[in-house]
Amino acid sequence: MSALDFIIQMSLTLFGVGFFLSLLSTLVDKKTNSAEKRLENLLPGINCGQCGYPGCASYAKALANKEAPVNLCKPAGAEVAKQLGALVGENYTNDDDFEEQLFAPRKVAYIHETQCTGCGKCKRKCPVDAIAGVIKETHIVDHEICIGCDECINTCPEKCIEKITLERDLSNFNWNIYNVIQNKSRN
Ligand code: SF4
Ligand code: SF4
Ligand code: SF4
Repeated sequence: MSALDFIIQMSLTLFGVGFFLSLLSTLVDKKTNSAEKRLENLLPGINCGQCGYPGCASYAKALANKEAPVNLCKPAGAEVAKQLGALVGENYTNDDDFEEQLFAPRKVAYIHETQCTGCGKCKRKCPVDAIAGVIKETHIVDHEICIGCDECINTCPEKCIEKITLERDLSNFNWNIYNVIQNKSRN
C-alpha cells in the first residue's frame, strides 16, 4: 500500500468514526429532549418559579436528568407528581398532609338555617362579629370573617351549627411554599 493509499484509508476511517459518533450524540440528545418535552407537557406552564427553577422547562430538564424530586410543582398538585414519577421511574404516593399544608383550608362555622330559631345566642358569643341576623330570624355566618373558634357551636341550644371546610382555591393556597417543604422534611 502506498503512503497516499494509507492516508486516504485512514482519513475515510476517521471520517466514518466521526460520523458515527455525531449520529449517536444526536440520537441521545433527541431522546433526552423528548423525555424533557413529555415532562414539560405535564407541567402547568405558568412559570411561577415555586419549584425553585426559573420556569417549567428548567424543572422538566432537572427532572429528566434526575436532579430534582417529582413533587416540587405545587400548582400542578399530587396527581401530576404521580404522572411525573411514572415517567422518571420515581414512585410518588399522594400525601394528604402535604396537601393540607399547601392549601391550609379554612374551617368555618355554618348555620343550618331551617333549624335556627333566631335566639341570637351565637351572635352574642362570637368574638369577631361574624354572625348576622335579627332575633327570631335565621342567622348566618360570614365566612370571610369567621375564625373557626367554635364558640357559637358550643353555645347554640338547637345544635344547628357545624364546622365546614372552605374549598381549596388560590385565596387559601400557601404561597410561602418553602415553609411547607421544611415542615414536611421535619415530619
Ligand atoms: S412550580 Fe410548576 S408551574 Fe411553577 S415554574 Fe415550577 S414547574 Fe412551572
Ligand atoms: S366559629 Fe367563632 S368566629 Fe366563627 S362564627 Fe362561630 S363564634 Fe364566630
Ligand atoms: S344560637 Fe343557634 S338557634 Fe340561636 S341564632 Fe344562633 S344558630 Fe340560631
